[in-house]
Amino acid sequence: MTANSRPRITIIGAGLVGSLLATLLAQRGFDIEVFERRPDPRVHGFLGGRSINLALAERGLNALRKAGLADAVLAQAVMMRGRMVHPLDGAPNLQRYGIDDSEVIRSVSRGGLNILLLDAAERAGATLHFDAALADVDFANDTISLAGPDGATRTHRCGLLLGCDGAGSALRVAMARATNLGERIEPLGHGYKELEIPSRDLPSMALGPGHSLAGMTTERFALEPHALHIWPRGHYMCIALPNTEGNFTVTLFLPNEGAFPSFATLPNVAAARQFFEQQFPDALALMPAFDEDWNAHPVGQLATLYLDRWHLDGRAVVLGDAAHAIVPFHGQGMNCGFEDAAELAALLTADSSDPAAVFAEFEARRKPNADAIAAMSLANYIEMRDGVADPHYLLKRELAAALTERAASHFMSRYRMVSFTSIPYATCVARDREQTALMESILKDHDSLDGVDLAAAATRLRQTMPPLPEGG
Ligand SMILES: Cc1cc2nc3c(=O)[nH]c(=O)nc-3n(C[C@H](O)[C@H](O)[C@H](O)COP(=O)(O)OP(=O)(O)OC[C@H]3O[C@@H](n4cnc5c(N)ncnc54)[C@H](O)[C@@H]3O)c2cc1C
Repeated sequence: MTANSRPRITIIGAGLVGSLLATLLAQRGFDIEVFERRPDPRVHGFLGGRSINLALAERGLNALRKAGLADAVLAQAVMMRGRMVHPLDGAPNLQRYGIDDSEVIRSVSRGGLNILLLDAAERAGATLHFDAALADVDFANDTISLAGPDGATRTHRCGLLLGCDGAGSALRVAMARATNLGERIEPLGHGYKELEIPSRDLPSMALGPGHSLAGMTTERFALEPHALHIWPRGHYMCIALPNTEGNFTVTLFLPNEGAFPSFATLPNVAAARQFFEQQFPDALALMPAFDEDWNAHPVGQLATLYLDRWHLDGRAVVLGDAAHAIVPFHGQGMNCGFEDAAELAALLTADSSDPAAVFAEFEARRKPNADAIAAMSLANYIEMRDGVADPHYLLKRELAAALTERAASHFMSRYRMVSFTSIPYATCVARDREQTALMESILKDHDSLDGVDLAAAATRLRQTMPPLPEGG
């Protein structure tokens, strides 16, 4: 225990969740040490490994607000109003996510955000150690074994162990040796590859018309900057998120194996280029370095991680991807991990005298929600790659908009609940199920909203469902 009788805390992993958690706890007076496997990105550059940018939504922003960091993060983000859907034939069309610009998501750079959070953690008083990978834990003696880049290991006395070391968590492996965590990993069977649409080279336009993105000109963007672009193609898709530098990170999601098209049927860059010429010709035309990117970037794998137990009595707990890695199709992995960090920091601050009880309460509050966003993320892959171009899906969207207008206190689409509120994910799932059943019954025998009595539908909604929870 420290002088203020709060337990010493050892965080494993200084990625997005670990560095926010370190900030929140250090700001609340805890003695925090963080061990990170990678070198310090502020000195050596960010070694990302995956997804160069991410979508930040209200939940993540809410946790950042609690650390006083929301404005600083927003200053380096690009607003995305909705999905710009690129059909194979026809013009792109924007499907707004929310009712107006108060309901948007934001594209942030993983490296930039991580560096901002590391600086904040240090400012708040946390001690950060880089090039220090957790190799093993001796729970009986409260020591951890840390490996440097040269493989040499050292032993270190630890405090309460908080595992933020990602999907392949070494702390989780050590905990699983001491107790059965009930771990289950379900591979999606689809992988992803990152490509790039570069910014247009317009050096003289810095102060020209269209000047808007924190010193950037929107003309630098080869596509509409304020949108998440999707090229839905049935059982696969491409997406593109804007970066403040004017470029877009493009991600192709595709089955790993099986009939064309799958990664297995694209053995070389020539086959990949031919596939893009057929399916994504407009995107390919904007990717001058397609061949180099295809060859340089490995295929990333996607899976969902489920654990029955997140903690080892009062000694260790996992959170973020270490506890519940999910597929990225709702853009919520980091957002959910940030909610975890805020919840754990609040529970520890309220009473850290019985860590086992705090960890049990944390798991009880967060696990049903992690399970819910895992399920919604899997469902959203089908919606993104297929649904957004389906007439019945579009009709439901129209009805949803009409119900939102007529009964805003009682209707909110699942996407809006997940992205623009902090309503618990499990509540979003239950509410969405009821709303969808009601919409399907209203749309029975209709293939357009003509002839649907919208006033009666809104009355039925108000009569059959309670109002939505306030702001979540
Ligand atoms: C393609 C893709 C797109 C995504 N898009 C989005 C999105 O749009 N929005 C969103 O909210 N989420 C998104 N996610 C999910 C998001 O990336 C993760 O949920 C988030 O990074 C989890 O943060 P974390 O800190 O828990 O884990 P990580 O980001 O994995 O960080 C773990 C840290 O622990 C360190 N570490 C690992 N092992 C050790 C060890 N033994 N000892 C010490 N340190 C260790 C790592 O080096 C790393 O710094 C996406 C994921 C993918 C794959």
